[in-house]
Amino acid sequence: SGETLLELINDILDFSKIEAGKMELDLTPFEIREVLGDTMKSLGLRAHNKGLELAFSVAANVPEILIGDASRLRQIILNLVGNAVKFTSSGEVVLTVEAGAQSDVRVNVHFAVSDTGIGIPASKLDEIFTAFHQGDTSTTRRFGGTGLGLAISKRLVQLMGGVIQCESTLGQGSTFRFTANMQVGAGARQSGYVNAVVVTDTRVLVVDDNATNRRILLEMLSNWGMKPEVADSAAGALTLLLDAAVRGIPFRMVLSDVNMPDVDGFEFTRRLRSQPLLRQTPVVMLTSGDRTGDSAKRKELRVAGNLLKPVKQSELFDLIVNVLGVNSTEQEPALVAAGPAVQPVRSLRILLAEDNLMNQKLATGLLAKFGHAVRIANNGEEAVAAYVADRFDVVLMDVQMPLMDGFTATREIREYEKLTGHRTPIVAMTAHAMKGDRERCLDAGMDDYLAKPIRSKLLAAVLEQVSSGSGFAAGPPISAAAPVTEVAECLVDWDSALEGVDGDRDLLKTVIEVFLEESDRLIQELRTAVSESDFGRVRHAGHSLKGALLGVGAVPTAELAQVLEMMDAQGLMDSQNERLSELERQLAQVQNECRVFVQG
Ligand code: ADP
Repeated sequence: SGETLLELINDILDFSKIEAGKMELDLTPFEIREVLGDTMKSLGLRAHNKGLELAFSVAANVPEILIGDASRLRQIILNLVGNAVKFTSSGEVVLTVEAGAQSDVRVNVHFAVSDTGIGIPASKLDEIFTAFHQGDTSTTRRFGGTGLGLAISKRLVQLMGGVIQCESTLGQGSTFRFTANMQVGAGARQSGYVNAVVVTDTRVLVVDDNATNRRILLEMLSNWGMKPEVADSAAGALTLLLDAAVRGIPFRMVLSDVNMPDVDGFEFTRRLRSQPLLRQTPVVMLTSGDRTGDSAKRKELRVAGNLLKPVKQSELFDLIVNVLGVNSTEQEPALVAAGPAVQPVRSLRILLAEDNLMNQKLATGLLAKFGHAVRIANNGEEAVAAYVADRFDVVLMDVQMPLMDGFTATREIREYEKLTGHRTPIVAMTAHAMKGDRERCLDAGMDDYLAKPIRSKLLAAVLEQVSSGSGFAAGPPISAAAPVTEVAECLVDWDSALEGVDGDRDLLKTVIEVFLEESDRLIQELRTAVSESDFGRVRHAGHSLKGALLGVGAVPTAELAQVLEMMDAQGLMDSQNERLSELERQLAQVQNECRVFVQG
């Protein structure tokens, strides 16, 4: 600790709080695998720059959700792992977490941080936990630091009802162990491992020269019911892969480290691709950070996925499900050795960023019918927060939203992804589908776009396209066929409205109920805006009302609303009252038809 001035100041503030007996823990539920995973990832670069292997594992007996002070736990881990990296010049730094004694409500969690570094002399082992104490003055000169980190960590551990201690052998390394007594949180992650059936009994080969990594990956994969095997080199892996393929029990995928002596992960994949029996086997790579050209190499070698080490369980799981799911449709059966193909029904985890209640109902109704799990964000800010807190297979992103629009939210997500190394497809949803929109969406980092109103078939098609990884079509948006400007004879085109909800009358009724409320509110808003000559608000409300009307298939009335949306200030001044009365008159008719439909 104490590397930067800011850290130093924080250390001193924390320490004075402790001295004054004012340090308190903030108890909230947190997902321990996620918190530790993110913390370890933040240290990854520092470790990998020194050529160290950084790994961590959380045993299966540790509950998914704990109640405790996640940020103070993070602080302890940062201090211990930070020190371990600092005082180790070759080898590895490993964090392991296991549950000790536990009841239904509480658990004693055991943490261990071990390194293969310089070690600490036995005579100093007690002193290092005292404030301002450092191993010796010569190490201080070499390594810097304040000597406060361990004193703070010790106090925090005590507050968590635990103890901290250190074992060390000079010249060989140190292990810091601590315990924390925490409350067990309720309700595991609901999105849970719904896809577990996809991975069960799947044969997967792990290739890594580092024994700790092999052990950790083997354990994780076995816990998910997969059938993993390990190899410590490319040569060994190729032998195992070929042998299995010839015997008719091929591996369904390979997880390969990139940095290996002799033959690295890229060369290994190249060799694998040149074997007719193996060339369709999906390869997922584990890297310690990208070098220029790596992503081009991955593309060339058809690498199915790439994860930055140390690997979080959740991201590995999601990637495996993704790779197995997508791959089953891509494999050329003739080239794959015999053995049951994995044919999962893909259930996606979808983040829906949409401020409009009607569209929310419509989209969630449809997505649930397709068997996907949906989480709603009401604006761009919520979308970014939800994205960081959870994992999704795809994001459906409305472009116009309050507080933060879809373009900005997408940029922020793409920025965040640079840290995680995992890229999630983002599909824009826009009510304009105007020329240039595609470029704007692409520029912001989106992968595809869907014109509103949301229609069942188009939504299904775009999700299909996204999950097959084919990305942006060069031509018009996939939903260009949506009847945005089509002139319908009748006031409400019920056939098309029903088609849009996959023929589901109940879902349409739900949507209509929201429409009735929304349209009342919006026409009121329009009236006020017009009377106050607030043209910005007129356009905005006109836009929303248009969207709502299109959602129930009221195309001609939507066009009236669009006229208000599109008019310039002069046009609005000249004719807004007239337009508004016409719109009000038609809207009342549409609402009547809707009420009849809901009752009928
Ligand atoms: P700082 O690292 O800021 O000096 P700490 O309280 O975190 O302060 O550590 C105190 C001292 O303990 C360090 O200066 C170092 O001598 C020793 N130490 C801590 N962790 C390790 C480790 N993993 N390996 C070797 N020495 C360590």
